[in-house]
Amino acid sequence: MDLLKGKTALVTGAARGIGKAIALKYASEGANVAFTDLVINDGAQRTLSEIEAHGVKAKAYAADASSFGETEKVVAQVLAEFGRIDILVNNAGITKDALMLRMSEEQWDAVINVNLKSAFNFIHALVPIMSRQRGGSIISLSSVVGITGNPGQSNYAASKAGLIGLTKSVAKEMGPRGIRANCIAPGFIISEMTEALPEDVRENWVKNIPLRRGGTPEDVANVALFLASDLAGYVSGQVLNCCGAMYC
Ligand code: NAD
Repeated sequence: MDLLKGKTALVTGAARGIGKAIALKYASEGANVAFTDLVINDGAQRTLSEIEAHGVKAKAYAADASSFGETEKVVAQVLAEFGRIDILVNNAGITKDALMLRMSEEQWDAVINVNLKSAFNFIHALVPIMSRQRGGSIISLSSVVGITGNPGQSNYAASKAGLIGLTKSVAKEMGPRGIRANCIAPGFIISEMTEALPEDVRENWVKNIPLRRGGTPEDVANVALFLASDLAGYVSGQVLNCCGAMYC
């Protein structure tokens, strides 16, 4: 299948995990792929080679997604090198969990800046480009925790809830220009982010998932493929949960 043939995608934080799975899925469907991460290390280089193996154009950029200035610069570079940007995936994200009584200002600011402000940075830079192109698909990685809340994750849940408000507003503002904006809300997905959790916490998560397994990055990438493609041409302003019925 060539669901994304002729399109260019920009995926943030895609050296590994869910972002990498999305970048590979898009490449397998014919998209040219630019991706960012904090540093382009050996892992990011391997991701780049795997994307290129699909026969598409690909490039990796070092940029801190939470920096407005770095984002403007990287978007201008991608546009100059690829000629257009049709799909934006706001994937870069971090956790800095702590109960509210112990949460520091640094933990709050870091998570809000990387998870939420980064999406503003990229959407702000991309909207004029997508407007000129009269179309585009913006996908942001929220979380079911952004809908339900979670003890110890008030910073993370707030950032993921913020992405939903941002997405719905952008969908309404930019719809007349043919730009769609949607969120994916994954549940418990097996990645380096969740592998960092203690085993008993992970087991407990899985016990409460009706499908009785953690999701894979590819499960999320399949949803991101649908939302990026013309199959979702009339889908905008939505939050698509990918959580094995953990939240419904
Ligand atoms: P991950 O930690 O494996 O990957 C995150 C990537 O983002 C890394 O490559 C990291 O280097 C990059 N990154 C971090 N800060 C950055 C910055 N400032 N600028 C650019 N890149 C940066 O995480 P993952 O599990 O693949 O999660 C990807 C996204 O999905 C995140 O937004 C996360 O919150 C969301 N999500 C994950 C889960 C899950 O269970 N894994 C569930 C819900 C939502």
